[in-house]
Formats: sequence, C-alpha cells, structure tokens
Amino acid sequence: MPDSIMPSFRYDHIGVEERLGAHNYHPLDVVLTRGEGVWVWDVEGNRYLDCLAGYSAVNQGHCHPRIREALVAQSGRLTLTSRAFRNDQLAPYFEELCALTRSHLVLPMNTGAEAVETAIKAVRKWGYERRGIPEGAAEIIVCTGNFHGRTTAVIGFSSDPEARGGFGPFAPGFRAVPFGDAAALEAAITPNTVGVLIEPIQGEAGVIIPPPGYLPAVRALCTRHGVTLILDEIQTGLGRTGRLLAEEHEGIEADVTLVGKALSGGFYPVSAVLSNGEVLGVLQPGQHGSTFGGNPLACAVARAALRVLVEEDMPGNAARIGAHLLAGLRGIGGPVREARGRGLMLAVELHPEAGGARRWCEALRRAGLLCKDTHGHTIRVSPPLILTRDQADWALERIEGVLRGPTPDLAAG
Ligand SMILES: *Cc1c(COP(=O)(O)O)cnc(C)c1O
Repeated sequence: MPDSIMPSFRYDHIGVEERLGAHNYHPLDVVLTRGEGVWVWDVEGNRYLDCLAGYSAVNQGHCHPRIREALVAQSGRLTLTSRAFRNDQLAPYFEELCALTRSHLVLPMNTGAEAVETAIKAVRKWGYERRGIPEGAAEIIVCTGNFHGRTTAVIGFSSDPEARGGFGPFAPGFRAVPFGDAAALEAAITPNTVGVLIEPIQGEAGVIIPPPGYLPAVRALCTRHGVTLILDEIQTGLGRTGRLLAEEHEGIEADVTLVGKALSGGFYPVSAVLSNGEVLGVLQPGQHGSTFGGNPLACAVARAALRVLVEEDMPGNAARIGAHLLAGLRGIGGPVREARGRGLMLAVELHPEAGGARRWCEALRRAGLLCKDTHGHTIRVSPPLILTRDQADWALERIEGVLRGPTPDLAAG
C-alpha cells in the first residue's frame, strides 16, 4: 500500500521500531495485527497468506482455537510454580509427549537455543560419567551450515560469519564437518567424542536435504562408536516435513531429540529435550534448571498444541499439500534454479542473476504472500500445516505470477 494514502494520524510503527529497537532484524515492512489459520492481516487491513509460519512455530495455524482455549483456561488457574514445587500439568504433559515421540525422559525448557544448550550439557556429563572421558575433554561434532540458535556456545560452532563475527571468544569442544558427508563425520570421531548434533534437514541454511542414506549412516556410526546422536528437530519436527519427526522418514531414532517452536503452536516459548533413558538420566537435582521450564501454562499449551497436531492430522496434510505445492513450484521455471523440500518445509532457490531473494519476497508481499528470503538467493515457503489444496493453488498462482514477471526493484533501506 503506497504511503500517500496512509492517513497522517496513523501511528508510525516502523519509524518508532527503527528508532527504539536494536537493529538485529531486517523485517519486511509489513506491520501485522491479526492472524487466523494460514492468514495474517496488517494494520491497514490487507490480508496475507503466511508462508513463514513464525519459522515453523505456527505449524498449527495462527490463534488455533483449541490451543487458545487451553491457554485461556490455564491462565486463570495457575501459570507458574517453578520446579521447586510440582504442578498438575507436568505429568500428563510428559506422558503425552513421551508417548508421541517414543521417548523415555523429558527435560522441559523454553526456547530452542536453551534446549540445545541443555543437550550439550547432558551429553557432556553422560560422556564423563558413562564413557569415562577425562573431565573437560568432551567433543561434540556438528555440521557446517548448521543453525541451532543464538547463544554464545551455539554461535561458537556456527559457520555463518554473520552469526559469530565479533562475538567471541567461543567455547571449545566442537568440531564441524560438512553436512551430508558421513565419511568426514566418521573421520572426526575421536575417543573423546560424546555426541553428534545435527539437523535432519538444515532449515536456516536454506532447506538443505542431505543425500539419501546419510542419516541412517550417521545413526550407525554413532551406535558403533558409542556416541549419542542428537537430532535438532526444533524446525523439522512436529509435522513440518510430513511426519511427526523428520527422523521417521529415515527409519532411525535419535538418542536425544530437541523440539521447540510448534510445541506451543506459536502461543508461548516451549521447548523440550527428549532422550532415551541414559542421557538425561545423568542429571541430578541442582545441575540444570529454568524458572519457566515446565510451568503449568506452558504444559497446558503444549498438550493442546500436540493434541491438535495429531487429531487434525497435520503431518499427513503437510505431506499431501507439500507434495502438491512442491510439484507446482518445480514447474515455475523463469528465475527458479531449484525448488526443494519435504512436506511443507519448502524452498525456492533463484538463479544468481535474479538479483537476490529479498526483492522477490517484497513483490510476493504485494501479491498477498509473506515469504522470507534466506542466504541471498533462497525463498522459504513454509506455511502453516493446515494449508488446504485450494489455498495452495491460490498461493501457487500468485508465486507463479510474481516469479514469471519482471524483476522487481528492491525497496530502499
Ligand atoms: C529456530 C531454531 C533453533 C533456535 O530456537 P529459538 O527458539 O529461536 O532459540 C534451534 N535449532 C533449529 C533447527 C531452529 O530452527
């Protein structure tokens, strides 16, 4: 919408935000005020199809009525006790989450990065206590191109100069190997290796799917060398790829699985570390914790978020609609170098001559779709998992229209 028709009395959201907020994001200049299902509305009343879904935190769709109901009900009963006391939402939450993910132990946290940090602590301790590794020597293998969050330990093993530049010194104990290369991973295993931390599909790197057989090979290597396999399913998990967990596509089971994002359907930060009996079993009272982790409001919200995922078969819908959408994206041609993904975790990579993904995301926004550019030339397409076939066709028509049109100018700023 052109600025000229905006009434002059309108509150200057963008100006104030830019003036008072730290500039650690470069959002599209759309100010959203309402969401329902796959749709969001800006302050001028324009409607958009949300093709980012809060980086997969909103898999269940915006303001899902059943999750909202759970949030509202629990918020009037009990919201936080701390883990100094027990609360009546925690046990049923653990039971439901473990049953669904075939896990034996849960450690509840809040953000994804905290779940990653928790897993790092737990597997190190496991290595010292169960494997007899000398204290302070534990190593964890990660992959280049990884994204596991923004804490100082986690960015220390990022390969993205923007994520780590200027933020050192970094914690030792991590080795990076190329994603998708099982031989390189095996070569990096030493007697001090306690874990391999990996995304089943690298999300922030641009929806990078490893070669077939890679994850089963990593699973076998971990088993053979007595190393824990930690799968970061914070983005791939909870239906996004067309299965509840992405590991199911590979017929493998991780020793430690990290979930977050859609665990609350976007209502509230809720994450969890899930493990077999051994790894989380090493933690004793006082060795780890979180004021908010496992609070009754989070548990009630997460229980509802999991229930609707399963009862409304969102993973199945993601598989069906995702395949349809991917086929459509592959047929676009023009500036599209490759369309890829699994389930509704999709990406369109543009040819370098297309001038970068940002300008195309701005043009898509004008056509009624909110997409996010990543790594220069890639547009991520990851709508809520409740997307219908008609809505997918609506989106495809507009994406096709924009991508087959003239190269848009890039907005200033
Ligand atoms: C988003 C994400 C994280 C970090 O989650 P936060 O809640 O932002 O801390 C970690 N790992 C992966 C794979 C993610 O996509």
